[in-house]
Amino acid sequence: MTAQIIDGKAQAEALRAAVAGEVARLKADHGFVPGLAVVLVGEDPASKVYVSSKAKQTVEVGMNSIEHKLDVATTEADLLALIGKLNADPAVDGILVQLPLPKHIDSAKVLEAIAPDKDVDGFHVVNVGKLATGQWSLVPCTPYGSMILLRATLGKLAGKEAVVVGRSNIVGKPMAQLLLKANCTVTIAHSRTQDLPAVCRRADILVAAVGIPEFVKGDWVKPGATVIDVGINRVPAPEKGEGKTKLVGDVDYAAAAEVAGAITPVPGGVGPMTIATLLGNTLIAACQRRGLAAPA
Ligand code: NDP
Repeated sequence: MTAQIIDGKAQAEALRAAVAGEVARLKADHGFVPGLAVVLVGEDPASKVYVSSKAKQTVEVGMNSIEHKLDVATTEADLLALIGKLNADPAVDGILVQLPLPKHIDSAKVLEAIAPDKDVDGFHVVNVGKLATGQWSLVPCTPYGSMILLRATLGKLAGKEAVVVGRSNIVGKPMAQLLLKANCTVTIAHSRTQDLPAVCRRADILVAAVGIPEFVKGDWVKPGATVIDVGINRVPAPEKGEGKTKLVGDVDYAAAAEVAGAITPVPGGVGPMTIATLLGNTLIAACQRRGLAAPA
């Protein structure tokens, strides 16, 4: 069997187009343009790339992008003061603080300072708690994007056996909550799980969010399963030339694609969805804050 390749690029493009359409409608009907503020502290090269592509895509869908690039020596107090200002600024609908933050800043304290209704990353405990208790909330972008891919591939998810490998607060746990909300039977696996291959083989839906290149093997995949590979790992690629690198996921793609019914590639799977859902969350936050119906 050769798996269907789940096209995250196309899904992300469709979501961005839908967001752009809604942004244009809000401007025409209600006279406002949603704004997303992104805060970057320091010079981390990967973070700089993410922040500039977030800003570019924000503008492309017609929203305002507000960028704050702060020196690595910025104090926690100064960062908290900036967040306070952004919380109070009516032109700002979403606030994203790019992680990781420098070591002298307490990330948890900073994330908790963001107003929950502007928390487009969905990391604030209020949003985490609402998701866990089945209430409406802003949802973390990567799991949200993974759910869109799953629904586009499988339609209804109710009753499916789902295994999430990884229990981080940004991916594994919210992913499990969303699958549970979609009425899947959910198992969360992690580094202490016994006989992980057997646990994975139960899954109709297998989500890998581990951070280890090609960790999930082909024979861990149940025939016909849908595999969502959240991992993004840069590894040496000597076949491309000396010193060259490439991106791989947390799943051994070639082997898994022989067994799975459908699978996300890396790159081009979950990755492109993350910024698209961030823009979707900003649109939702902008509507919610103004008492307007948020688009589905
Ligand atoms: P974390 O390092 O925070 O979490 C990794 C999880 O994997 C932990 O829960 C850990 O278990 C588990 N784990 C580690 N080793 C094993 C093992 N041997 N067996 C079973 N479980 C194990 O990573 P993140 O959740 O932040 O990220 C996961 C991956 O997703 C990374 O590759 C990251 O780059 C990628 N990512 C991609 C995004 C995107 O936009 N596509 C966005 C965010 C992340 P334990 O808790 O027991 O230590």
